[in-house]
Amino acid sequence: MKIINIFKTGLTAIALTFTTSSVQAQDLMARQAPIDSRLRAVDSVAIKRLLKAESMENPSGDLYQTWANEFVNYDQALPAEYRIDLRDFHMPCESRVVNSHFGYRRQFGRNHYGTDIKVYVGDTIRAAFSGKVRVVQDQGRYRGYGKYIIIRHSNGLETTYGHLSKQLVREDQVVRAGDPIGLGGSTGFSTGPHLHFETRLLGEKINPEKLFSFEAGDVRGDYYIWRRNGRSQLMAAHDVSNLPEVEDKAEESRAYQQKRIAERQSRSRVHKVRSGDTLSKIARKYGTTVDRLCRLNNISRSKALKPGQILKCS
Ligand SMILES: [Zn+2]
Repeated sequence: MKIINIFKTGLTAIALTFTTSSVQAQDLMARQAPIDSRLRAVDSVAIKRLLKAESMENPSGDLYQTWANEFVNYDQALPAEYRIDLRDFHMPCESRVVNSHFGYRRQFGRNHYGTDIKVYVGDTIRAAFSGKVRVVQDQGRYRGYGKYIIIRHSNGLETTYGHLSKQLVREDQVVRAGDPIGLGGSTGFSTGPHLHFETRLLGEKINPEKLFSFEAGDVRGDYYIWRRNGRSQLMAAHDVSNLPEVEDKAEESRAYQQKRIAERQSRSRVHKVRSGDTLSKIARKYGTTVDRLCRLNNISRSKALKPGQILKCS
């Protein structure tokens, strides 16, 4: 905000210099009003531009506490409700053919956290919204996303673009909706050229097809009101302006965070040793290592276990 004040002061000084040097003192009062209103107009445009620049520099800075040039599992609670403005959307590619949807895939025995859109190698991939490029990484030819990009947007979303053949942007680069960011490909865990496209809100995975119709190349609504209680919904802009202010949430959010921490702690498990148990058997059971078990319980690898003994396992 400081920068805006300096800017305002600067403008006022310029205007006053201009005024006093070109008119008589007695005319000053008479001429003051139109200059003031002109100044206000210039001011509000300049302030809007500065605010916009600021939000491009640190998109959704109110939501995200961190900025890192790597994949992040956010350990931050989302507010009870978050209004995602979708109106700036641009199709990430020309193609409107969806190959694979969000959700569980029996074929691979795991969840698919994005939408796969058919593209050809070399097709232009574009930023879905304006924002700032957070990650430009390569997970290798056959692993994960392959060459991928994550962009953070000022509407709260982060979008991911996977399996690219080429990345055209740098980390920390500011992009506008529709700007080319890469070329389609089939790098990483992929059986053929396609764009793997993800939308997340502070790490919370959202099915992109809830927000966009890729077949139509458009958003499904002006806003997506994300709600922690599961009652998320699409809304037209004029309905959003009628929504009651979200009571925040700081308090509620803190309570939620505490609940999550409590849940995590309750998951920290203990094991009661039974006859026949070995450290490696217990480690396997709790998905940990013998070394870690030893460290947690302050024992050596060769220590004999006694039935009934309690071991911390995580
Ligand atoms: Zn995919």
